[in-house]
Amino acid sequence: MLLENLAYPEVEDYLKEKDIILIPIGSVEQHSPYGLMGTDFIAAESIARSVGDSMGILVAPTLAYGVSPHHMAFKGTITLNPSTLIEVISDIVRSLITHEFKRIIFINGHGGNINTLKTTFQRLKAEKLPGYIDVISWYDSSAVRQICQDIFGDGEGRHATPGEVSITKYLRPSEFAAKASDEATLNKPKYYWPLSSVEMKTVFPDGRMESAPWLATEEFGGRIAAVAVAGLEKKLTEIMNLELVNASAG
Ligand SMILES: [Zn+2]
Repeated sequence: MLLENLAYPEVEDYLKEKDIILIPIGSVEQHSPYGLMGTDFIAAESIARSVGDSMGILVAPTLAYGVSPHHMAFKGTITLNPSTLIEVISDIVRSLITHEFKRIIFINGHGGNINTLKTTFQRLKAEKLPGYIDVISWYDSSAVRQICQDIFGDGEGRHATPGEVSITKYLRPSEFAAKASDEATLNKPKYYWPLSSVEMKTVFPDGRMESAPWLATEEFGGRIAAVAVAGLEKKLTEIMNLELVNASAG
């Protein structure tokens, strides 16, 4: 169920039944020579839309861009400042609250967005905005971590992971014909966080962070996405059953 395909009377009808909406968010950032620049938003969008279809939940258009300054030494990365993202997220949430959506859930594909999203939610609640606002990263569940560990072991790593690359291979197999595929060295350097873009490229010269994306396959991607979707269905069921505070009463 995509918001972009509805007319406003259909949104009105939806709001008579449900008050939840999902917003996929990702990043446009390098994912090593093995992965797509759009990996994070492509994966988040696909998983959010699958859950939206299976649960009859509305999914808003994807916010492709995110906070990726540490990847800016690699060509093609497009980053938002955290302050920009705070304003964009705030405007999106305020718009949806105005229309009486009450559960606004960002389905996230990029770890670098999380601090900014949570800061934004705190700021919005400080404005006494009603409703439940949250971010769920599709990869951040014990079941997803377990299947990636079972398949890729130590090669899953932290960025340009074979897990996320597998999902994009599953979704867009034809885009991988010209990507790197050879096995390389699996490096596990010591480092601190955050890194500047220059530090990032010095520590991780080909853009991978402790990962072995050459292990990615379409088949693994289908399996990992299914586990992520099942986990999200469970979490969203809990969120839909959550009793919200009715602050206007009394
Ligand atoms: Zn990623």
